[in-house]
This record gives sequence, structure tokens and C-alpha cells, in this order.
Amino acid sequence: MRYRASALGSDGVRVTMESGLTARDRVGVQDFVLLENFTSEAAFIENLRRRFRENLIYTYIGPVLVSINPYRDLQIYSRQHMERYRGVSFYEVPPHLFAVADTVYRALRTERRDQAVMISGESGAGKTEATKRLLQFYAETCPAPERGGAVRDQLLQSNPVLEAFGNAKTLRNDNSSRFGKYMDVQFDFKGAPVGGHILSYLLEKSRVVHQNHGERNFHVFYQLLEGGEEETLRRLGLERNPQSYLYLVKGQCAKVSSINDKSDWKIVRKALTVIDFTEDEVEDLLSIVASVLHLGNIHFAADEESNAQVTTENQLKYLTRLLSVEGSTLREALTHRKIIAKGEELLSPLNLEQAAYARDALAKAVYSRTFSWLVGKINRSLASKDVDSPSWRSTTVLGLLDIYGFEVFQHNSFEQFCINYCNEKLQQLFIELTLKSEQEEYEAEGIAWEPVLYFNNKVICDLVEEKFKGIISILDEECLRPGEATDLTFLEKLEDTVKHHPHFLTHKLADQRTRKSLGREEFRLLHYAGEVTYSVTGFLDKNNDLLFRNLKEVATQFKMSLLQLVEILQSKEPAYIRCIKPNDAKQPGRFDEVLIRHQVKYLGLMENLRVRRAGFAYRRKYEAFLQRYKSLCPETWPSWAGRPQDGVTMLVRHLGYKPEEYKMGRTKIFIRFPKTLFATEDALEL
Ligand code: ATP
Ligand code: MG
Repeated sequence: MRYRASALGSDGVRVTMESGLTARDRVGVQDFVLLENFTSEAAFIENLRRRFRENLIYTYIGPVLVSINPYRDLQIYSRQHMERYRGVSFYEVPPHLFAVADTVYRALRTERRDQAVMISGESGAGKTEATKRLLQFYAETCPAPERGGAVRDQLLQSNPVLEAFGNAKTLRNDNSSRFGKYMDVQFDFKGAPVGGHILSYLLEKSRVVHQNHGERNFHVFYQLLEGGEEETLRRLGLERNPQSYLYLVKGQCAKVSSINDKSDWKIVRKALTVIDFTEDEVEDLLSIVASVLHLGNIHFAADEESNAQVTTENQLKYLTRLLSVEGSTLREALTHRKIIAKGEELLSPLNLEQAAYARDALAKAVYSRTFSWLVGKINRSLASKDVDSPSWRSTTVLGLLDIYGFEVFQHNSFEQFCINYCNEKLQQLFIELTLKSEQEEYEAEGIAWEPVLYFNNKVICDLVEEKFKGIISILDEECLRPGEATDLTFLEKLEDTVKHHPHFLTHKLADQRTRKSLGREEFRLLHYAGEVTYSVTGFLDKNNDLLFRNLKEVATQFKMSLLQLVEILQSKEPAYIRCIKPNDAKQPGRFDEVLIRHQVKYLGLMENLRVRRAGFAYRRKYEAFLQRYKSLCPETWPSWAGRPQDGVTMLVRHLGYKPEEYKMGRTKIFIRFPKTLFATEDALEL
């Protein structure tokens, strides 16, 4: 079916097809604010479905971009596409990631204000792909810096390295990021990228020692074994076959059809050079990767006193060499723990179970520290080399946040608690900033602000983070009572402290009806996006892992880094990309409505829309509005010589707009209902 010439991309409000059906019936509206029934979730989903069917994966909610993963290469990210979106107004072209990229970049250049693009969505929704496309857009379209031109390549090449160490195949995504990432790109006053900085969050280090069925360890292990040179593997004492390593066989899927570990390794090796790794540093890095694999193969046997003894001497030998530690020190570290009694340090032997635990803890610690070191090293290469030049002092920053969305599983633990708390904070920031920018626009345009009814989730953030009586505080407190506190004493304390909170529930606090669905070791939080039940098992241990021990104040590292992130984001102009995964099978063309409805809820999209539609569905600069509709009024056609605002006044009067349907701002017309606009669009077609 062919569209008429004026079709998609003009103002995108309405297009007519030759069959007489409106394109809106077929491809939906390209901005959800134009849905007549904007509070209806069914209408929202239907619009998404129509567009998805036509391979239109992008739709706006005002300035927010909603993206749905096509799971196929749509050929929409070429250099030509980039050019098409450069320098044009957001609404003149069909919705696209590059429209956001360009709008953000132009705001950065013209207003000289720092920007942040926040990309959210569940695993497999397309966050990382979007981040990569954005970086590509900037690398290809921005001017090159006068000095330090390597930074563009380094920004791009930091990705394969971080993905090798931080991504893994999971059931939900063959290239799942197992850490949160915030990346700053710094631009000089000419708009050239001159530096960058990365912050990483919550690497899922438990994956180093355990993977669920159908999942893998981090990519780098398989890449090294498949792609490493003979000589390198020999030096590291490694065999090619992943089956030889206990840390790689738990998920029973070392080979994945969509992944080519061998060629990926080549890319990673090259990228390491681009981001300034010396040969020695690469050697060190590989030694550590290899040592984790050797650690996993350390076995113990019990002696006659049930104390653990290392039985795998060969592994121990490699480890001592690769980690440059004394054999005896390592042996001792794996089979004993240090205790302090009466001021004296004593070594107490471990039993089999404890030794295995210590070994895994060591592997996790080694890996996560290596990851932090890697991020630090990348940051040193990305740091602007041009700090002394005047251009450095006037840099502006564009941040890209690629962080896991709300997670709700059958079984939710500490990790989900942290992730969901993070999303709760980001939602709070979103509401705050969206309302603020709406308010600012109304003010700038001289239009009276009408209060919006919305759910303020601050009450849930407080429940989690408040000093002394928030969940994190109580958890930290329990972590300071080693030996006495357990996950269950933590739960009891929680029950005592926050029992009257409307967003909190446990088995003990629940009524007869709800009790059945809550275990004795669980608590339930009513998040902005819905209820999640968490099991406290492992909370103390995992929190201890994250703790910064400081005698005066103990606060969790995650909470602090999250607060820091929120501060960073608050200081910037935000842009939002909300990613949706269409089905669990990773297949193109499948629109699983139940799954999608779930995400629309957890991404808070209906709430987004409500806030955005609180006042006016549509707003446009007078010039643009007049240009599009001037043919509808004899006084403005073929041209209007006076002020555009007066022309628009003339136009809407002629069209019979009622006073309650629109408002005239300083530079824009605001139209309250989509139907007013559609009627005007229809008139164009007559
Ligand atoms: P996670 O939270 O697990 O890291 P994610 O949201 O980062 O998930 P991605 O890794 O970006 O998800 O996307 C998953 C896969 O979906 C990609 O490997 C790619 O195959 C496909 N995909 C995502 N976005 C697009 C797109 N715009 N076009 C084509 N394919 C895509
Ligand atoms: Mg990802």
C-alpha cells in the first residue's frame, strides 16, 4: 500500500492512504499523547501493536522515546539515516533514536547545558543496542577534535571490552549486561568529543562461580579459550575446552549459536590496544582471567580431623605463578580463616564446605576487582588529554545511562531489591524533572499551570533509604552484629520498625487472606510499578559484600553510588528512552501482549503519559503550525506577512477553535485535545 506524498514524517499527526483508510487506523499515532483515550492501557498497547506490525519501532510520549526491540536488522541506522535526522525539528521526521540523539546534541551545543539520556527497560529490551547506536551517531556526525582524535575510537572501543567482561548469555538475552553503566562523553566548545568517563554499578559477580541452566559465565572466559593463541593458552596453563572448567559448565551451554567467541576475541584484543593497554597489562589481565578458571578447579579433601586440604596441586601451581603469590600463602588462604582472639591473630582451619565457600568468594572478589580496575583503566585512557587547553575548561557533558529496569522474578533476592530501588529513584527523578520541565515551559510561554494528579513515589524511596528507620539502615545495622544477626533477625527488626508502612508487608503483618502468598522469610514492597516479594535469605551476606566499613558511619556503597548518580543526573537536562521487549523467544514479528502490558506497567509509561497529557496534548511553534495549516484559511494563504502568532490567531478563529480547546503562548500554540488537531488535519485532506 502506498502513502500519499505528505505521508509519514510531515507532522506525523495523520496520514491518509489511497484506500481511504486513515494511516492512523493502520500505523497508529506516532506520539501517544495524540491518543484520544490516553488513560486507556488497551489503546496504548493497540497503538504499539499497529506500529510494531509495520516495523515502526519508535513512538513518542512527548519528548520520551518508546522503543520496541524488532529482533531483526531494520537497516535504519545507516549514515544516510543519521544525516536525515541532523538539524531537523523533532516533529518533522518520524520518531527515531537519532532524532533524540540530534535534539540532545543540539541542546548541548546551543544551550551549553549538560545532557543525560536515560535508557531503561528489562533484560533484552534493547538498552545496550540503543546506547551503542547513540555513541555511533556522535562518533560519526560530530566534528573531530583538534587534538586527541583517538578519543572517538576509544569511546567506541571501550564497549567490546566492557561487554566481554561484564556481559553474559542469559536465558533472556544472549548478550545481557550484568552491570549498570553510566557513561559521560565530554564535548569541547566546538562540539567535538574530547573525553569520557564510565561509572559501573553492581556487577553480578555471583555469575563467576555459578550459572543457571542455559546461561553462561561472562563472555571473556569463552572468548579467551576459543580465540586465544596456542602460546598464550600454554603460558596460562589453559585447555581450549570450556568443559574442563567447573566455573564454565554449570549452565551446560558453553556454545551459543548467535555468538562467535573466536571473532569476538579478535575484536576485544584489538579494542584493548585502541584503549591504550600495553602488552604487559594485557598479559596481567589474561593471567587473572585464567586464575579464576584455575581457582574453580581447586578441589579439597577432608583430613582425619575434617579439615579441608587442597588436593589439586597442579591448579595451585598455576595459581601461584599467575597471581604471583607464595604457594603456602595461597594454600593457607584457601583452607584457613584468620580470627582475632584477645588481640592475637589465630588461624582456624576450615571444613570442606567452608573451604569451597572461601574459594568461590576469592574468585568473585578477584573478578570484580579486575572489572573495577578495567573500568578505571578505560577511564584513564578516555580522560581528556587536552586538560590545559581553553577548550577543556568549557566542555559540556552528555551522559548515557544503560541500567537494568525493574525486575520481578518468581524468586526475588537482594539483587532485585537493589535494582528495583534504583528504578524507584530514577522514576522519582523522572516525575520530578518532567513536571519541572512542563512547568517551566508553561511559565516561559505565559500559560497558567494546572496541577497534575500523580503518584509521588517518594514515600517508597524513603521506606528504603531513610536514615535509622529505612530498610537499608536496618540492614546495615544488622550487618554490624556479626555472629548474632541473621537474615531472620533482620526481618524481625524490619517488622518492628516499619510495620505501619502502607507499602510494606510481611507474613506476620499480613491478614489471613494475603498471608498464604507470603513466606515466613519474605517481605513485600508495593513499588510504584507493583508488588514485589523479596526473600531475605542471603541479604546480610550480600550486603556485607557491598559495605564500606567506616567506624563513624556505615552506609552501603550502592546507596551512596546511587545517590551520586541521582545527583549527576539531576544536574543535567534529561532525555528518556524506554525500551520494550516484544517476546521472550527473541524472535522478530512476535508481539506478546501479556509480556508487553507487563512492561508498560513496570516502565511507568501510563504515568508518563498522564503527566505529559495533564494539560495539552499538542504544542507547536507558531511558525511551524502556520506553515502546515495556512492553506486552510484565506487570510493566511498563500502567505502571511504579519507576525506568525497573529496568523495562527487568524487561522484558528477561522477554523472555529473554541476557547477551551487551545491556548496561545509566547511562541507556541497549545492544543488541549487530539480531536481538535485531527479535525484540522482532516481539513487538509479535503
Ligand atoms: P540487558 O538488560 O540484558 O543487558 P538490553 O536491554 O541491553 O538487555 P540488548 O542487549 O540491547 O538488550 O538487546 C538484546 C538483543 O536484541 C540484541 O543483541 C539484538 O540482537 C536485539 N536488538 C536490540 N535492539 C535492536 C534494534 N534496535 N534493532 C535490531 N535488533 C535489536
Ligand atoms: Mg544490556
